Amino acid sequence: MSTSDIAISIRGLRKSFGTLNVLKNISLDVPRGSVVALIGPSGSGKSTLLRCINLLTVPDGGEIRVGGQALEFTGGADCLPGDKVLAGFRARTGMVFQHFNLFPHMTVLQNVMEGPVTVLKKPKAEAEATARKLLAKVGLSERCDMLPEKMSGGQKQRVAIARALAMEPSVMLFDEATSALDPELVAEVLGVIQSLAKEGMTMVLVTHEIAFAREVADQVVFMRDGVVVESGAPAQVIDHPQQEATRAFMGKMV
Ligand code: ADP
Ligand code: MG
Repeated sequence: MSTSDIAISIRGLRKSFGTLNVLKNISLDVPRGSVVALIGPSGSGKSTLLRCINLLTVPDGGEIRVGGQALEFTGGADCLPGDKVLAGFRARTGMVFQHFNLFPHMTVLQNVMEGPVTVLKKPKAEAEATARKLLAKVGLSERCDMLPEKMSGGQKQRVAIARALAMEPSVMLFDEATSALDPELVAEVLGVIQSLAKEGMTMVLVTHEIAFAREVADQVVFMRDGVVVESGAPAQVIDHPQQEATRAFMGKMV
């Protein structure tokens, strides 16, 4: 596979918080148009890895390539990229969090328009047309003028997805996007993620929904204690794990 077919390439990524080594030499390739599910016990470093991919957290060592741009981290403040590089990197990755993080004082439509207008400097009319299209895509055409507080968790999360898509990312990152939802609201959010997968959106999903990971992911990555223990097709990692740690985790999930 040539490098242009790889959307995200990670080599030797390391991150510590004080004396706690949270990511220990992580390497991972995400082919363009593929879906990677990151699974593993709480505290294994999944969120930190996602946050490193869009530089909400700056790694201590290793390399991350998103699209054509590579950043090498050597530790210390001098490895912090400049604002422009940071902004470019972040713009390529849309992030969806467990707790939506919508702007509470803005309507649904304004939430989705905000980034394109203020960051991408799009004309308002164009940003609004795109926002309406994206809200239709996530099934919320009728809710454009609502405030987030009036919505269910599932609706809020779909707004958050539309808002991330409005920035035209080449990759979408989901950190336990359904973990805060009531069980009856999980399916509507997973449905949106699945339709993005069908359209060929490159995605990295941290999820506890093992059945969903089996269905939607091309590659499943099992992490524990800051290392990738095992990765491969869902049929391997979920159904026929090679490693004892993966077997133990899957045993608890079913
Ligand atoms: P996961 O998402 O797999 O549950 P995290 O990446 O959130 O794991 O966390 C991995 C470990 O790093 C945990 O022990 C967590 O407490 C620690 N950690 C995460 N972020 C920070 C931070 N900003 N400061 C200190 N410790 C952190
Ligand atoms: Mg997490």
